[in-house]
Amino acid sequence: MATNTYLSKMRPEDILLPTLSGVCCERGGFYIDPTRPVARALITHGHSDHARAGHGAVLATRETLDLMRIRYGDDFAGTSQPVRYGETVTLGDVAVTFHPAGHVLGSAQIAVACNGLRVIASGDYKDAADPTCEPFALVPCDVFITEATFGLPVFRHGDPAAEVAKLLHSAALFPERAHLVGAYSLGKAQRVIAMLRQAGYDAPIYLHGALESITTYYRNRGIPLGDVRPVRLTDRSKLGDSITICPPSSLTDLWARRFPDPITCFASGWMRVRARARQYGVALPLVLSDHADWKGLTATITATGASEIWVTHGQEDALVHWAVMNGLKARPLAIVGYGNEEEEAVIPGHAEGASPESITTDHGDSEGAVVIDSGQPLRGFRHDSEAGGERGK
Ligand SMILES: [Zn+2]
Repeated sequence: MATNTYLSKMRPEDILLPTLSGVCCERGGFYIDPTRPVARALITHGHSDHARAGHGAVLATRETLDLMRIRYGDDFAGTSQPVRYGETVTLGDVAVTFHPAGHVLGSAQIAVACNGLRVIASGDYKDAADPTCEPFALVPCDVFITEATFGLPVFRHGDPAAEVAKLLHSAALFPERAHLVGAYSLGKAQRVIAMLRQAGYDAPIYLHGALESITTYYRNRGIPLGDVRPVRLTDRSKLGDSITICPPSSLTDLWARRFPDPITCFASGWMRVRARARQYGVALPLVLSDHADWKGLTATITATGASEIWVTHGQEDALVHWAVMNGLKARPLAIVGYGNEEEEAVIPGHAEGASPESITTDHGDSEGAVVIDSGQPLRGFRHDSEAGGERGK
């Protein structure tokens, strides 16, 4: 039948086309998480490498729009339209639905469907529990666009509750010392606080000024954070026997030295990498990631049932290799500009999306550090695009 012929000719690239500044949907007239200002943008979540100011119209969850407003001001976009999880919006001749991504408050995977073919741009995601946001929703699809921030088999994040237990153990062991926990302002800081409460810690938690506005927003959205106090209203020299959350960059500031004999902690998936913790002078690394680890990435990809994956920002080649070995079509997108959310930007040696020469990780459950070669440089999209163009002809 004519319809079947049409369907069989439909390719994922007819729905979403990777470009150097983000994936573009010509049929719907929009980009997803564009890295330059565009007329219409769909935004997966509020981290600064995905949510940029200056677009004409923005469609995103209410929380993502609010977080963009907090960061960039009321004029962050020409117009904005909130969308609920599960709600389908028709744009041009595609249907767009936002589903929870489990990454930070309001984070979404964006499903774009047309003529029975569904492509999902997942943005950043994790499959681990997080008391501050909706859990990742598994949505079957034909093509899954996945991140690969921790896309190497050595990355295993472990049990988040055990990391928080480590912090509480240290606080109990050294009651006269201040514990300073470096955490990113959107998502991680609030997750650490909420997890401390889940673990039964009910003392006041102190907050660096840079984290106040977003944390207040989380509280206003009903996330249980307990007694959180701005540290600026307190004499820091009297904050022994306390936990203070601050931006990671403050750990090495003069600001940190006013606390009594502080123990510096850093909550990040990168804390599995021993050299990174050392570089940052972190005494107590806490492996707490808002991104899926290798097992989470591969299990999620498999569970979506997608026959094809596109891989963005991170260790793209390893995940592409894994997918091909498992019978999937796979391509790296190498979009320039992702992977620089606060989390990565402040980690020495990982700025600007650079691929590290080698990574040493410290497995909690094995004899010691493992050194891996991260392999060939990432292939650029320009090259892939040309190849795809030829295939398309
Ligand atoms: Zn993110």
